Amino acid sequence: MRKISLSIFLSMLIACNSTPKKTNKPLYTIVIHGGAGTIKKENLTPKKETAYKTTLEKALRIGNDHLKNGGTAVETVELVIKTLEDSPLFNAGKGAVFNNLGFQEMDASIMDGSNLSSGAIAGVTNLKNPIEGARIVKDSTKHVLLYGKRGQEFCINKGATYADSSYFYTKYRWKQYQRALKKDTITLDHTVDKTLKKFGTVGCAVLDTYGNLAAGTSTGGLTNKKYGRIGDSPIIGAGTYANNASCAVSCTGTGEFFIRGTIARDIAALMEFKGLNLQEANKETLEKLNILKGRGGFIAVDKKGNYSMLFNTRGMFRGIANSKGQFTTAMYK
Ligand code: ASP
Repeated sequence: MRKISLSIFLSMLIACNSTPKKTNKPLYTIVIHGGAGTIKKENLTPKKETAYKTTLEKALRIGNDHLKNGGTAVETVELVIKTLEDSPLFNAGKGAVFNNLGFQEMDASIMDGSNLSSGAIAGVTNLKNPIEGARIVKDSTKHVLLYGKRGQEFCINKGATYADSSYFYTKYRWKQYQRALKKDTITLDHTVDKTLKKFGTVGCAVLDTYGNLAAGTSTGGLTNKKYGRIGDSPIIGAGTYANNASCAVSCTGTGEFFIRGTIARDIAALMEFKGLNLQEANKETLEKLNILKGRGGFIAVDKKGNYSMLFNTRGMFRGIANSKGQFTTAMYK
């Protein structure tokens, strides 16, 4: 008996010390967006273009490194979105757009594709990183969506960082709001004219090295939006969706159309029920968005590390990095 135990022990020791078997390199993919809209080279000064590129690359690098080092999909989504929220360039966190009463009300959501757990926050004004609030709702409540002052208070009590309203202010957004107010229009971000063409929301979709998917989205919504209006970004199935059975998706665009069209969930459902691959499902959903006359785009990743970044606007701030060494950002069509 003793002899057998000893031999088992020895073989275990050998197994532990032997060089690990060569396995396939763990697969990961990260896609990000910083909003879609009238993003044309002639509308951006070289300085602005560099600033956007640098920030997109910074966020992508942070996400890529986290995944490479074994970070989970959910952690990566939160980390990357925080980086984009902290930049005044995008319509999320610092630099969020103003509503019709001159307040910055922000929405965000996050979803874990491995168990469908989800968290979202809507209409918050003082969470430095709304995505942090969304993560807290996901992890510390039995609910999916909390809103307004009370929702914000809950997140702060659970450790979310508070920021004074002045932190979110940027002159550029204020001017944008003043113009929209004068013309009585509701505008999306990255617009150069008076029509509904601007989206500056940020989002991230990830496949991690454990084979799990996650997605998240964060936004200030639309310039001059009605006080209290909630868009698609904090709505699971509209602006964000993740399911290990299909894909992870984050959207940007005219939120009402994404809610009516259940755009994020549609992409996943087309894969789950119709057997489409990621590209086909994204293409078909973009056609649906066109029919609905919604404007914007979406990024998505599947279990195999395939990705898609489609939009029906002039451009979309976007980026992709993966375990195969791909690392690219883009803005224009
Ligand atoms: N989808 C966001 C909203 O409607 C706006 C955006 O993507 O920029 O709130």
